[in-house]
Amino acid sequence: MRRLLVAGNWKMNASVAMTQSLLSELRAAQIDQCDVAVFPPFPYLTQAAQLLSGSAVALGAQNCATEESGAFTGEVAAPMLADVGCAMALVGHSERRTFYGETDETVLAKTRQLLASKVTAVVCIGETLAERQAGQEEVVVAQQLKLLLEQLNAQQWQHIILAYEPVWAIGTGETATPEQAQAMHAFIRAQLQILGADVAQATRILYGGSVKAANAAELFSQPDIDGGLVGGASLDAAEFLGICRA
Ligand code: 13P
Repeated sequence: MRRLLVAGNWKMNASVAMTQSLLSELRAAQIDQCDVAVFPPFPYLTQAAQLLSGSAVALGAQNCATEESGAFTGEVAAPMLADVGCAMALVGHSERRTFYGETDETVLAKTRQLLASKVTAVVCIGETLAERQAGQEEVVVAQQLKLLLEQLNAQQWQHIILAYEPVWAIGTGETATPEQAQAMHAFIRAQLQILGADVAQATRILYGGSVKAANAAELFSQPDIDGGLVGGASLDAAEFLGICRA
């Protein structure tokens, strides 16, 4: 059985004070009905690791380098993330694909780096509004998955979580309907069959895009939705905990 995961992507929002107060509240809440993870910006990871030490809340980063180490000014390598206590990292978020030109090749290289450092890769996929309006959403998502399915084996897929985030639902307040999301999650799970029924059944597929406490329960009750990747609502402890309890 797949256990629900509620993951908070803080994006470029944090301070020392905010990290301290938000994580203290999450820690004190002792959520046990689902797995919980937070993804603060890089400078706060060490502080977050200390605040979460001994708690069930997992720590993740929002990105990593395509290389392992060396002369890559400004980059952060996967072994560093593992070293400071990250169990997970996001890869290929739509904001990185759109604003920083990340390609499916970049996403594969970063995923490989994370797996080599025993950090679970949370790989984000999803179509734009124009692509959905053109009826291309399945083609786009299948293309985003293609290299990962061709180049990584079933054993490696044990350390990959997918996040379906339709770009038109991110930060817009417009959530995919539970039916739209379920249809795409079922399509994604069917794609995973190429690596075997075990991978298809075991891989967690999170939904992301304007998830709130008010809509989380209906989304999470869909058979192929295994939790959420939450942006804006993860910055408010009460709202995020409301999603965790949904
Ligand atoms: P919002 O929840 O703010 O729509 O962001 C979703 C997201 O991009 C999470 O990675």
